[in-house]
Amino acid sequence: MELERLGLETEEHMVHPDRPNIYGKLRMGDGKRLHFNGHTDTVPVVDGWDTDPFEPVQKGDRLHGLGRCDMKAGIACTLNMIRAIVDSDTEFKGELSFSAVIDEEAMGDGAVALLDTDYRNVDAVVLAEPYPADESKPVPLGIVGKLLYDIHVYGTAAHDFTPEQGVNAVEEAGEILANLDKLEFQEHHKFGKGNYSTLKIEGGYDIYSVLVPAYCRFEVNRLIVPGETVEGAVKDMEKLVESLGLKSSVAVKIKPPRYESFEMDPEESILKLFHGVYTDVMGIEPLYMYSKSITDANTFAGVGGIPCLHLGPKRGDTHKANEYVPLSWLPPCSEMYTRIALGFLN
Ligand SMILES: [Zn+2]
Repeated sequence: MELERLGLETEEHMVHPDRPNIYGKLRMGDGKRLHFNGHTDTVPVVDGWDTDPFEPVQKGDRLHGLGRCDMKAGIACTLNMIRAIVDSDTEFKGELSFSAVIDEEAMGDGAVALLDTDYRNVDAVVLAEPYPADESKPVPLGIVGKLLYDIHVYGTAAHDFTPEQGVNAVEEAGEILANLDKLEFQEHHKFGKGNYSTLKIEGGYDIYSVLVPAYCRFEVNRLIVPGETVEGAVKDMEKLVESLGLKSSVAVKIKPPRYESFEMDPEESILKLFHGVYTDVMGIEPLYMYSKSITDANTFAGVGGIPCLHLGPKRGDTHKANEYVPLSWLPPCSEMYTRIALGFLN
């Protein structure tokens, strides 16, 4: 494949059956390690496409197709950058590597698997996601995290005419839900506070029966801000449940996906380098934000502690019908990647 043709040392990492992460690296002596990352999956096809989503169709400056923008265009620019460096025999110090990972649009298992490899120790990651650093999508300096509480309430069944002899799991679950506003949310100077939203509840009979329900389960989504962790949020829920003095027994669990939040220092070397390169190439200063859109950086930076830069071609309706990438964005993006790679590794 292309990475091998370019002389990279490549590796296939089977994360799920027939769903591998692909890695490639180029090493030139001792120095820092810079990693470029993209995801190979897309969101499902939605209704409303004017063209075949699986065929690239060019209309003027727009290249339409599923995943064209999110994020095949960014991966193409990354390969362009690697090819430019290899073909021109440009030297650098250290390691330039690339990964194409699975599952970003779902559970993020590809990024989690990458942290089990030696790439966990790279000095910075550039995510080739569609973040053009303009008003449409500024570069994130931090991203919220989220978790999904999976709460099981175990009561005691009894005949419905003598409910006092049982413990009604549905009513006890209702008690917890009515008190969710007592969860303790930390305040973050940019994000403010996180939040919660109950997404699902199930309990009671399948077929009508006069029985006090012994079991109820519900799921609550919670956003956390930098400073809060998934583990801390679980303890917070356990504390809340305990404070209610319920008669049932309650198990506070979480289920995938889980994403840790993170915040970066704007003085971080990859960000400072990016700022200068962007200003030079685009002729304007990049814009920054604190973002609520989850990406694989929640794993790389939030869990792995690796500084992450999001930079990629301008968005054209991602996650919608008729997704496209503006082709005019590919040359400047490839150039910025090249300058960032050589700047970081010299
Ligand atoms: Zn994406």
